[in-house]
Amino acid sequence: MNKDMLNLGSNRSIIRELFEFSKQRKAEIGEDNVYDFSLGNPSVKPNPKLNEALIEIINKGDDTYSHGYTSAPGDNNTRQKIVDNLNKRFNTSYTIGNIYMTCGAAASLCIALRALVESKKDEILAMAPYFTEYKVFAEGAGATFKVVKPNMESFGINFDELAKEINENTKAIIVNSPNNPSGVVYSKESLIKLADFLIKKEKEYNHPIYIICDEPYREIVFDNVEVAHIPNLYNDTVVCYSYSKSLSLPGERIGYVLVPDKAADSKNLFLACLGAGRAYGYVCAPSLMQHAIELCADLTSDMNEYKKNRDLIYNGLTEIGYKCVKPEGAFYLFMKALEDDAYEFMEKAKKYNIIVVPSDNFGVKGYVRLAYCVSSKTIINSMKAFKQLFEEYNK
Ligand code: PLP
Repeated sequence: MNKDMLNLGSNRSIIRELFEFSKQRKAEIGEDNVYDFSLGNPSVKPNPKLNEALIEIINKGDDTYSHGYTSAPGDNNTRQKIVDNLNKRFNTSYTIGNIYMTCGAAASLCIALRALVESKKDEILAMAPYFTEYKVFAEGAGATFKVVKPNMESFGINFDELAKEINENTKAIIVNSPNNPSGVVYSKESLIKLADFLIKKEKEYNHPIYIICDEPYREIVFDNVEVAHIPNLYNDTVVCYSYSKSLSLPGERIGYVLVPDKAADSKNLFLACLGAGRAYGYVCAPSLMQHAIELCADLTSDMNEYKKNRDLIYNGLTEIGYKCVKPEGAFYLFMKALEDDAYEFMEKAKKYNIIVVPSDNFGVKGYVRLAYCVSSKTIINSMKAFKQLFEEYNK
């Protein structure tokens, strides 16, 4: 048996464990008395047009259309609607030949990584704080995974640390903005600086260094913050996108890989993505969902609810005295734990029925992540418990 897979399957993630704890506490003391901020499951309903689209597709009465295989890269009309949307928003000229439909961002990342990685010598960088699964995906694709230490001031890009980690074996760097877990959106200036830095390194090492741009939260931003379209700043970019968060359908598994023509060796890279999809046995993305995306490519869920929650949780916690990074996007808040050991803090928070995830899981020490994709009522009601927790540390 494959020991790595056995290990992966046997070790429950901390988030899963917290989820089980939360379920148990809710059964004991009632749903409303547990403040569970552990899971990133969208709380905002899907856009109502999405269900209408599904009904419309089913009512066509063509089961092969609704439920049959599509071609491996995906339905042409769906891909056309996606590139129309991207071209309109980002002033690009993508065609359907740039898009490969996948089962969500996780699949997109695995496919892009598998397409790029040749051997364990190849290094994939991620900048802390980072989405935990990157390590699993990169190592699963056969690469060596390396973490760039965080910028503890802003949780933006730490260029000094990046310069230390990058070397001739660097194949790609994963960029996730808006960021899970920090809620930070990398500024356009910092991404231009990153592009300039990578262009120099490509010249120095004489091979492409790709940005794998993981952007399932692209549409979840507040206060008119701009999410720069990275392929417009750096040619050698592959975009991994998902509708899980923007349309609130994470269980439906739909997204895409975008390989722009400008990326180095783009034609072969696209073919390698098809190959990776084959090797992983993905066959094609769910056809019902592909057709739904064709009808909903320009839509999102109501992002105002996340903005309302962001304001409630950020203002509430900072008024109590907690130190938090103000999230500009996604639906996570990164809060400084009240002691160095974030696990100990998590345990103390549990006593007040507050459930948060220690930042060690994201490559940073001393913080916790709060997923505020919960009801506003949960946030409001939780503040009393947060205050009691704060007072325990400040007696
Ligand atoms: N990337 C990031 C940063 C995420 O937060 C998630 C899910 O939470 C994923 C990728 C995976 O998304 P999907 O459900 O579309 O596979």
